[in-house]
Amino acid sequence: MRNILTAIIIILPLSGLFGQKNKLNDNILNLINQETEKFMNLYMDLHKNPELSFMEYETSKKMANELKAIGFDVTTGFGGNGVVGVYKNGEGKVIMLRTDMDALPVKEKTGLPYSSSKIVKDLAGNDLPVMHACGHDLHMSVWLGTLRTLVTLKNEWKGTIVAIAQPAEEVSGGSSAMIRDGLFRKFPKPDLILSYHVSPELPAGTIGYFPGTIFAGVNTAEITVYGMGGHGAMPHTTIDPIVLSARIILDIQTIASREINPVKPAVITVGSIHGGTRPNVIPDEVKMLLTIRFFEDDVYKHIRESLVRISRGAAISSGLPENKMPLVQFEENLIPPVANEQNLVLQTVKYMKEIIGDENVIKVDPSTIAEDFGRYGRTEENIPIALFWLGGVNMDKYTEHVEKGTVLPSLHNSSFNPDFYPTFKCGVEAMTKSVIELFANKK
Ligand SMILES: [Zn+2]
Ligand SMILES: [Zn+2]
Repeated sequence: MRNILTAIIIILPLSGLFGQKNKLNDNILNLINQETEKFMNLYMDLHKNPELSFMEYETSKKMANELKAIGFDVTTGFGGNGVVGVYKNGEGKVIMLRTDMDALPVKEKTGLPYSSSKIVKDLAGNDLPVMHACGHDLHMSVWLGTLRTLVTLKNEWKGTIVAIAQPAEEVSGGSSAMIRDGLFRKFPKPDLILSYHVSPELPAGTIGYFPGTIFAGVNTAEITVYGMGGHGAMPHTTIDPIVLSARIILDIQTIASREINPVKPAVITVGSIHGGTRPNVIPDEVKMLLTIRFFEDDVYKHIRESLVRISRGAAISSGLPENKMPLVQFEENLIPPVANEQNLVLQTVKYMKEIIGDENVIKVDPSTIAEDFGRYGRTEENIPIALFWLGGVNMDKYTEHVEKGTVLPSLHNSSFNPDFYPTFKCGVEAMTKSVIELFANKK
């Protein structure tokens, strides 16, 4: 009897707590169901009218208007076409939610009734087809859906939301422009920042997470290899930069395979090589372009030093003089890795599981793609960040992929087509719930 009483005493307050949690979950779900159709219309409009990086003029106006309608204080033209909205709801944490806005120069082949047929002039004056082939239209819809739900449920939380719509993610200038313009100084400084990227591999209705660095850092290098050109029939009178480049390319393969600790991933790809014009002319120089991917800063530092050493070493061994040493140049503004803060990820995962179910929140491997979201976590303010994959694949297509091995279109593919309804619903549910719980969490 005593045991039963103790059990009742323990269960009662717990069931009260669970009751409250379930009520909150129900409220969130009801609101999303009421709003989904409106957001489908917004999504179709964004999808039909994509804009290229640094040219998100109409898209940013739409984001600003939607934010105002929800009740945010809105600043436009921040960091180029960036938009910042602030919603204050009493004392509490500051949580920043980020979306990106730009599309890609890809000709859409999804066959959707709301396909983009847009051709626009880029900043250099070239006519290019444009498509939301990276799902940023979906990011914007989920972001606005979450903000609207959070504001409707404002009695459930206290604090400040800073919502940012970032331009130019695809060319990686947008986050740095917003930071440089004073994102963390001119608006309430966030305690944490959250973002999604739609996944071309996970089924709609699921979320992927990694409690650590989820996306690689990237930089581009250009190597100019000099030689002493001459007649192709008289190679002994020349120093051939094409042969020298071949030697350098093979030596570069040993950086990741022989020099870097094998448990630390690194990619060095020579994606472009140009030299010479005729079969019988040995040219004076060869140019190579490389992409470098890394997850840790010391790995990147090592790759940089090795590229210079290997290029120089090969040039010396070929007999070139000091003034003909290869020129190895690196992009100044590299894209850093997206280093998710472990505790923030694990806390958020717990809340996401409470609303979309344990089985729908999936731990994934890191990826060597890049995202400029990582920059927000690398300023002197040292703000914890977390980016999650938002599953976007239609369930039937996903099942076919698993059972028959059909290929799913990747991000940036002309047929990329996330399944709006279940993806939107899952994204808004999980993010709304997480933000409310993160506001309540004292840590
Ligand atoms: Zn992209
Ligand atoms: Zn993207």
